[in-house]
Amino acid sequence: MSEPLLTCEQVLAEACGRIGGESPRLDAELLLADVTGWSRTRFRAFPETELSDDQVRQFCHLVERRSSGEPIAHILGHQDFWSLALDVTPDTLIPRPDTECLVEAALELPLPERARVIDLGTGTGAIALALLSERPDWQVLATDLVPGAVALARRNAERCGLPLRVIRSHWFDEVEPQHFDLIISNPPYIEEGDRHLSKGDVRHEPDSALVSGPDGLDAIRHLVTESQRWLTPGGWLVLEHGYNQGEAVRSLFSGAGYSAVETRKDYGDNERLTLG
Ligand code: GLN
Repeated sequence: MSEPLLTCEQVLAEACGRIGGESPRLDAELLLADVTGWSRTRFRAFPETELSDDQVRQFCHLVERRSSGEPIAHILGHQDFWSLALDVTPDTLIPRPDTECLVEAALELPLPERARVIDLGTGTGAIALALLSERPDWQVLATDLVPGAVALARRNAERCGLPLRVIRSHWFDEVEPQHFDLIISNPPYIEEGDRHLSKGDVRHEPDSALVSGPDGLDAIRHLVTESQRWLTPGGWLVLEHGYNQGEAVRSLFSGAGYSAVETRKDYGDNERLTLG
């Protein structure tokens, strides 16, 4: 007689024990949804649903990858950000929920209709595409230095059906002279050698998206200074930074002559972005 088939609940419970980390149940459900093509709601509503041997085999393979530390977004190849489902590759940072706070802050700013916007170091295109999805009249340009990121951001724009222009550029270097109403960026801001870099998803993300000099502020210093000549009078600069960099970033903004400088917190109650 053959073995009884395993149920969704049985394999999920087993997987949770193996995956570990911050959200094992969520990760396990996302992997099972990927293998079966079923919604996570279905596992909740019908936990006794049986899986084929083939589905169990595929699921175990993904659980193995996850428990060896590979980010869930890399295994699935996509990540939700704002209201968008974005493709993700190892070429870029994986979009974080904290970065949605930048989008919220930007949408609250007093910006003109058809605002001209640039997202520097766009990666997957997350910030630029979220803004365009809310303000289809804005003219949004995105840059990235990494060719794989430029290609990915273009692909995401196409998938979302949003008219984002993406160019390969190191910050403003290849941008044609013009002025922007909003300059926004989630630049690298982690200190070289930070302990945080040896744990979790960041081990699988490119250093160029994470690390920026001995105090983590090299990119931010460059952007604060350089942005001035690219802003329209009354234009805004919005930058993400580390939870412990608020004071330093505010003083960079103020020292460079920005007004209305303000730091906002992320969903975890950490100082996460400064605008001016
Ligand atoms: N917030 C990310 C992290 O701490 C880093 C993102 C970045 O450097 N822009 O993992």
